[in-house]
Amino acid sequence: MAIETLTFGCRLNAYEGAVMKAEAEKAGLDNAIIINTCAVTAEAVRQAKQAVRKARRDNPQARIIVTGCAAQTEARSFGDMDEVDLVIGNADKLKSESYRPMVFGTPLNDKVQVNDIMSVRETAGHLIEGMDGRTRAFVQVQNGCDHRCTFCIIPFGRGPSRSVPMGLVVEQIRKLVANGYKEVVLTGVDITSYGPDLPGSPTLGLLTQSILKHVPDLPRLRISSIDSIEADPALYEAVADPRLMPHLHLSLQSGDDMILKRMKRRHLRDDALAVVEKLRSRRPDMVFGADIIAGFPTETDAMFESSRSFIAEANLAYIHAFPYSPRPGTPAARMPQVSKAVARQRAAQLRAAGDEQFRALCKSRIGQTESILVERSGLGRTEHFIPVRVAGAEAGDLLSVRISGLSDDGLSGDPLQAAA
Ligand code: SF4
Repeated sequence: MAIETLTFGCRLNAYEGAVMKAEAEKAGLDNAIIINTCAVTAEAVRQAKQAVRKARRDNPQARIIVTGCAAQTEARSFGDMDEVDLVIGNADKLKSESYRPMVFGTPLNDKVQVNDIMSVRETAGHLIEGMDGRTRAFVQVQNGCDHRCTFCIIPFGRGPSRSVPMGLVVEQIRKLVANGYKEVVLTGVDITSYGPDLPGSPTLGLLTQSILKHVPDLPRLRISSIDSIEADPALYEAVADPRLMPHLHLSLQSGDDMILKRMKRRHLRDDALAVVEKLRSRRPDMVFGADIIAGFPTETDAMFESSRSFIAEANLAYIHAFPYSPRPGTPAARMPQVSKAVARQRAAQLRAAGDEQFRALCKSRIGQTESILVERSGLGRTEHFIPVRVAGAEAGDLLSVRISGLSDDGLSGDPLQAAA
């Protein structure tokens, strides 16, 4: 068996999964499983441990290596698992030398080899060839976070905010386009914090404009999650470009001002609404999604209603709703808690409100001609990220499709011809 990587969590982790595999291969590793964990919720950590046990059961001879944010923040709890051979941190997982002990069977004093992520100042400048099994490539532009939202453990798993130099991002995207990718997604931990650590302090908006200018043959550029309050003037200009996909995901977290203050978020309800309206004034068909936490400590029914009503008010079509999950060492974990059952109920209500907006969005596209990128046989996504069922379409195709109706997960349509 060669190297198998199992990645949990965000797009940044998925991008790093491609880098890890290449670095581990460079070190000469084989017969190994690398589990790239997430620490955002207690459930994510539980799933990672379950995956470790299963990997060992199914592969008694393989090397089991654990990394990612849960390995960075709860290293010893993975180190104490008999199934695990090595635990490495988020920075070290991107270096081939970190895998060498597993290649040469070097006896380790301690299988936990996790270094201090808070001292990392540089992003690792890797260039990937592509992402196995994906037709949309993720590109890291930023890592880490300097904010301290009261519910969040990510800064302690990822370290301080740091940006990938613009030239390297452009070079990476050129390589992916040369390798046949038609869509690239810019990703990081807090990408609207892009740039202050680079010469000339570029911004996410300036980076986006630079990519669109210097990679003219990239058909589709997508931006992953943004912190609305940090959207810069150049980003407002860039959203008018037809090659920038009219779909943005907001790291909103709540629609209630008191809860936003207790979360130590940098925006209030009306700030987020104003950003949505301003972006739509630049790109009227812009579609939004948002992350919202349900049942944050001290959240009352009225406060929850502020979040739920925000979905319709801002017309958010993609809702990622999470029941609040107390994370070790975070201030919110010490606040008066809302019951888990209530948090789950509220998360379900938020998803239902989002589904309503999503169905309305889908209905509005019937009869339209859409450009879709096919992800796998018979299924693709529009520029607004709506799934479309299209008979006979092959992964990687960029097609013009006449939308004929709704499907279980979005829309259905008939191909007109390959999109230009
Ligand atoms: S901005 Fe807040 S929620 Fe996002 S990674 Fe940083 S601390 Fe966490």
